[in-house]
Amino acid sequence: MNSKGSRKKPIDIIPIARDRVMEHIPEMVIVLDEKERIVDANAMAQKWLDKPLEEIIGGDPMEVFKQWPQLLQRFFFLEYHREEVEIPGDPPRVLETIITPVYNESKQLEGRIVLAYDITARKKLEGDLKTANQALQSQLEENERLRLRLQEQAIRDPLTGVFNRRYFAEALDNVTARAVRENTPFSIIILDVDHFKRINDSYGHKCGDFVLQALAKYLAQKTRRSDIVCRFGGEEFVILMPDASADSAQERAELFRKEFEAMVNVCEGNSIQATFSVGVASFPVHAGSGESLLGCADQALYRSKAGGRNRVTVFER
Ligand code: GH3
Ligand code: MG
Ligand code: MG
Repeated sequence: MNSKGSRKKPIDIIPIARDRVMEHIPEMVIVLDEKERIVDANAMAQKWLDKPLEEIIGGDPMEVFKQWPQLLQRFFFLEYHREEVEIPGDPPRVLETIITPVYNESKQLEGRIVLAYDITARKKLEGDLKTANQALQSQLEENERLRLRLQEQAIRDPLTGVFNRRYFAEALDNVTARAVRENTPFSIIILDVDHFKRINDSYGHKCGDFVLQALAKYLAQKTRRSDIVCRFGGEEFVILMPDASADSAQERAELFRKEFEAMVNVCEGNSIQATFSVGVASFPVHAGSGESLLGCADQALYRSKAGGRNRVTVFER
């Protein structure tokens, strides 16, 4: 054979390549002509429709796609359209569809290319991820709630709910620092229930607890927002009063004392009344540091006890 004479006509690679791609892509491709007849359908379309090409070509899409009305509705758009379409069934499917109408130079519709791709697995993955994210988010929120509760528990007295001694120490440092910085006064009130042992002895420990809870509740209600009420131990409470002078702290301590004395606490059928003794000391008139001020308030409390109880004493040197 003469190789020169048998020079082959070069084949046009482009349509072949397009054809190959059309047949191998995972998308279903359907081509409609201007009369809305199916003129082409790739291998994936044949697989989906479960029909050979001969039965699809020339067909009316209304007929060929009658089992997929959700898809059919989208076939006849006049502009480019991309949409996720849910196909009910068991299992339901989600198709991403792209409709591309083709116009000639005179702007007349020549046909449409319909592309559809099954994204059910991707959508499920997205849904699972969203659920996992939501679960993680609520777990994080729960952790945060727990953290705040623990933080709160660490500074609260479990019996009465007011602040504990540890928190008081911290608060005293802060209030002192601010008073020094701003050249303002503050006061400390220490109060101790009188003959509390007798209450326990007469009515039982549970009723003793009840009286402590009632006192704590009363103090928490009666004090200002900036005041810090703490259970210092046993039946002893401390109130830190930022900005309060000795006079105003004394006045308020006197009010608390009177009101508590009049309070009737009913526990297990017993009407229990109690009193407390108070010591008051103020910064900076009585001491220049938080710790020594606490000592002054304690000394004043001791004087109230020694003087007969159920009274308020302001520290004096
Ligand atoms: P005083 O007027 O001198 O303060 O006498 P008091 O009896 O109040 O003081 P004392 O220190 O002798 O007794 C305090 C009692 O408080 C003894 C203790 O058992 C009791 N107590 C301490 N903590 C609690 C508590 O959490 N609950 C109960 N119910 N009692 C407590
Ligand atoms: Mg006592
Ligand atoms: Mg005591």
